[in-house]
Amino acid sequence: MSLLVVGSVAFDAIETPFGKTDKIIGGAATYISLSSSYFNDKVNLVAVVGGDFPKADIALLEKHGVNTEGLQIKEDEKSFFWSGKYHNDMNSRDTLVTELNVLGTFDPQIPEGYQDCRFLMLGNLAPSVQKTVIQRLRKRPELIVMDTMNFWMEIAMSELLETIALVDVLCLNDEEARQLTGEYSLRRAAKKILEMGPKNVIIKKGEHGALLFNHHEVFFAPALPLEEVFDPTGAGDTFAGGFIGYLASRGETSFSSMKNAIIFGSAMASFCVEKFGVERIVGLSDSELDARVQEFVNLVQFQIPLEA
Ligand code: AMP
Repeated sequence: MSLLVVGSVAFDAIETPFGKTDKIIGGAATYISLSSSYFNDKVNLVAVVGGDFPKADIALLEKHGVNTEGLQIKEDEKSFFWSGKYHNDMNSRDTLVTELNVLGTFDPQIPEGYQDCRFLMLGNLAPSVQKTVIQRLRKRPELIVMDTMNFWMEIAMSELLETIALVDVLCLNDEEARQLTGEYSLRRAAKKILEMGPKNVIIKKGEHGALLFNHHEVFFAPALPLEEVFDPTGAGDTFAGGFIGYLASRGETSFSSMKNAIIFGSAMASFCVEKFGVERIVGLSDSELDARVQEFVNLVQFQIPLEA
């Protein structure tokens, strides 16, 4: 199934209680496309970078089957740069720097060969750009999943609401869901988001797993309890990549397939946090992934014989 991924491809500088990085490659679409590549032979990428972005990192994406024909390179400009610092609990972080650079004027171009897109993942980007991508696809994809963050709620709320109304699944974390809706209860927040248009909403709760809601059902998937969370950057995007990657590989969009997709997304995210940046989600083997998914199955499987 054809999968299109749009989002930031960036430089990140990360500080955690375990250490600090200089500029390393990051960006929502980088994590999403690497993660979804484990489920799909071909992942089509639309993004923009500056002339400073290393060609070796573009080659790394291609090695994972990511088609970079839709990656614009603005030779005379600088790539998007984001820097963040995690608190000791690793569940919360402060954004230290957001330099939009090439993202500030990003005009997404969809190569002709991408027009057969059946699954669209709108990674974190300006909501107006996410909307333009939907408008530039001649045929509406079967499934549109959208991620966003507090940054856009603060500077582009009305565009954000317009774009949210066009998608099938909105994916955001608990703090963002509360900010978007003004509701503390995640159940109420989900209800309000569903009233905004999407038929499904995923609320990620970091090390406490993720919730999937539609108008009638709720599903919960835990996160794998790991001894050491090294760097949570990109975990949400890696989750989203596993989620849509699994669905695209099977051509499925039902709620029950989404339940499985959440487990695959969570398994991919559990790898991501084990090392800095994309290091741990590069070159994973099938057996490593299968074993990790099995750990999830074992973690939540139980049988309770109920009296009739
Ligand atoms: P996550 O940890 O899943 O929330 O995603 C972190 C990634 O999002 C980093 O690699 C950043 O480069 C990227 N990112 C942070 N802020 C933005 C933004 N405003 N727009 C697009 N991407 C962003």
